[in-house]
Amino acid sequence: NEPLSVVDPEIAAVLEQELGRQRDTLEMIASENFVSRAILEAQGSVLTNKYAEGYPGKRYYGGCEFVDIAENLAIERAKALFGAAYANVQPHSGASASAAVLHALAQPGDTILGLELAHGGHLTHGMKLNFSGKVYNATSYGVDPETMLIDMDTVRAKAHEVKPAVIIAGWSAYPRQLDFAAFRAIADEVGAKLWVDMAHFAGLVAAGLHPSPLPHAHVVSSTVHKTLAGPRSGIILSNDESLFKKLNSAVFPGQQGGPLMHVIAAKATAFKVAAQPEFRDRQERTMRGASILAERLTADDARAAGIDVLTGGTDVHLALVDLRTSPLNGQEAEDILHEVGITVNRNSVPFDPRPPMVTSGVRIGTPALATRGFADEEFREVADIIAHSLMPNPDVAALRGRVNELTAAFPLYPGL
Ligand code: PLP
Repeated sequence: NEPLSVVDPEIAAVLEQELGRQRDTLEMIASENFVSRAILEAQGSVLTNKYAEGYPGKRYYGGCEFVDIAENLAIERAKALFGAAYANVQPHSGASASAAVLHALAQPGDTILGLELAHGGHLTHGMKLNFSGKVYNATSYGVDPETMLIDMDTVRAKAHEVKPAVIIAGWSAYPRQLDFAAFRAIADEVGAKLWVDMAHFAGLVAAGLHPSPLPHAHVVSSTVHKTLAGPRSGIILSNDESLFKKLNSAVFPGQQGGPLMHVIAAKATAFKVAAQPEFRDRQERTMRGASILAERLTADDARAAGIDVLTGGTDVHLALVDLRTSPLNGQEAEDILHEVGITVNRNSVPFDPRPPMVTSGVRIGTPALATRGFADEEFREVADIIAHSLMPNPDVAALRGRVNELTAAFPLYPGL
């Protein structure tokens, strides 16, 4: 019963160093967030010891009376939060949720139609090295080369051409909202099921700041750890009664064995938090922060340096910086921001002239900083720091000093 620092000082040191990194830098990877102390506590708990194959009340193991309470709370809270008649809270991750959804909606060899990976889609929506591209006949739609927006006429034409069993709406890098009703109409025209993967924007949906896909999609999946700010994991939701049993058996025994009960307990806590007014306020600050960033990066001085943002702005929690006409490439931008103390990821832009390891884009998100407490004033400062970092001859030391002031003013996990 000795503490980690005694049993494994090397790993204890990693934990310490990572906490320090999170505290001392500005986290702007769009898919990341900071969970609360309460969620850390639920996740780092004795529930990790428990096997609970099956579902509440129908387990293949004894001793599930308490974990059943946790899973039922997670299910009921997820259903209430998103207005769903069905929730499965067992997927270990977003990718596991994707696998289970496709398992339930399609047969191996069936055609699926999703947003192209290079245009902001996700690996599990049909990338050729992923299970989704190997098991299914993966086809894709892209964004319009002029507007960089998803054009529903193009999606419709593609759907009529390939006649997919499943149409996938959802993205990992796209700065605008999707037209779920139009996606559903197209799915109905070609006899496909509509699966919306809201992994990125689920927190905005929970807060009522983004249209909900639930009234339109046959199935909705999500991660819990991005804007939703819960533990690293996935969920599946639906209002189509004919699919509930299929979805349950696609998760277990279709894809997984024992559920991670400690993570499910933490999900329950995350859904409780997401239903509260503080969470809505946080999502509002998140979205305003992204707009402030997009505005600053399209100001005259930034444009003169060849900087732009895709689609000219954002409706969500991230902005996609377009460096196609900048001498700086995505890799160099990521590196300079790292030096300044801001963590982002480089990202190919659609029709990117530079290779995928270099790229002409950077994806910058505001969820983690909003959780840290940032509001408009701080986001204006961050946006200005980023703009100056990406313009010629940045004063790295001065910019790092400005980052240090922000991190000091907003302590992360005080007392941990
Ligand atoms: N779906 C989308 C749209 C995503 O952006 C992601 C994560 O990046 C996933 C699924 C997969 O989530 P995970 O990394 O938890 O497997």
